[in-house]
Amino acid sequence: MSPDPSGDFSLQCPVPRESHATVQMAHGGGGRVMRRLVEGFFLPAFGSDPAKEPPHDAAVLEVPAGRLAMTTDTFVVSPLFFPGGDIGCLAVYGTVNDLAMAGARPLALSVGFVLEEGLPLETLERIVASMRRAADEVGVRIVTGDTKVVDRGKGDGVFINTAGIGIVPPGVDIGPRRVRPGDAVLVSGDLGRHGIAVLSVREGISFESELASDCASLAGLVETLLAADPDVHCLRDLTRGGLAAALCEIAEAAGVGIELDEASIPVCEPVAGACELLGLDPLYVANEGRLVAFVPAEAAQRTLEIMRAHPAAVGPSVIGTVTETQAGMVRLRNPLGVERIVDLLSGEQMPRIC
Ligand code: MG
Repeated sequence: MSPDPSGDFSLQCPVPRESHATVQMAHGGGGRVMRRLVEGFFLPAFGSDPAKEPPHDAAVLEVPAGRLAMTTDTFVVSPLFFPGGDIGCLAVYGTVNDLAMAGARPLALSVGFVLEEGLPLETLERIVASMRRAADEVGVRIVTGDTKVVDRGKGDGVFINTAGIGIVPPGVDIGPRRVRPGDAVLVSGDLGRHGIAVLSVREGISFESELASDCASLAGLVETLLAADPDVHCLRDLTRGGLAAALCEIAEAAGVGIELDEASIPVCEPVAGACELLGLDPLYVANEGRLVAFVPAEAAQRTLEIMRAHPAAVGPSVIGTVTETQAGMVRLRNPLGVERIVDLLSGEQMPRIC
């Protein structure tokens, strides 16, 4: 593979998504190498037939009336493949999950690849296939994309950017400003699996039982939650910075205090052990398939039951409450009743985790 100008591809995608859309390579798509990449990898993987639509620069989507959510994220995880996932599915789930945290039903994604010269095509093929599987599972389509190749040594295999749009159903209003004193705080599962799974490969640590990333879509879980109770106040996926970062940001944005019960925060044994070994606090370790939910106190048990019945929630728990006092602060109470402040860390605890 040699450095090459841009390789755009777009497909016409009317909604509903089951229709026979076709992918198009945009004009000026670069040389033969890029063409082979686009035609050989991206178009077939993302499910379109270039013979059916004339070349075009952008995907055109018909969308139902209502509110659109839009988000973007860039993925630089190292290594590219880790227990429980890879950069491809991570790039799909990460953006889908951010849409879901706004209560949006994911509709379409874009993907931008930055490929380092010399990347084995087999590696790219595995990543693209993983993206396709993840997108199919969620029911979202990758409708447009771009590829750039950089010189050997100037990248690190593959970087991926995805952007996504989704539809926010009528009546759904989710965000930190809706968090109220008295709200219950729930997590959808145990913490720290993604960060420790990635770190374990990087540091060559092995566990007695295999520890896999929690990397997964949260869109289905959110849809189920909202169908049962559209009055969810706030959702946040617990990615970089973990539970601690998410809660500190929400406490500050909402102008409330958050009190956590340490004993009810789920952390599995291998993660707890690895954190002890590495001197990490699981509250700060990244997840890629866990969320925190703020719901009115009277809805807490029902929300917990809905989570328990959903495969995307693995050992959900009510972990705390929102308080009017100590606004902007997150406090953690241990089983002995001793409190400590959970603070935002300065600097990054784990680089290249997503
Ligand atoms: Mg997020």
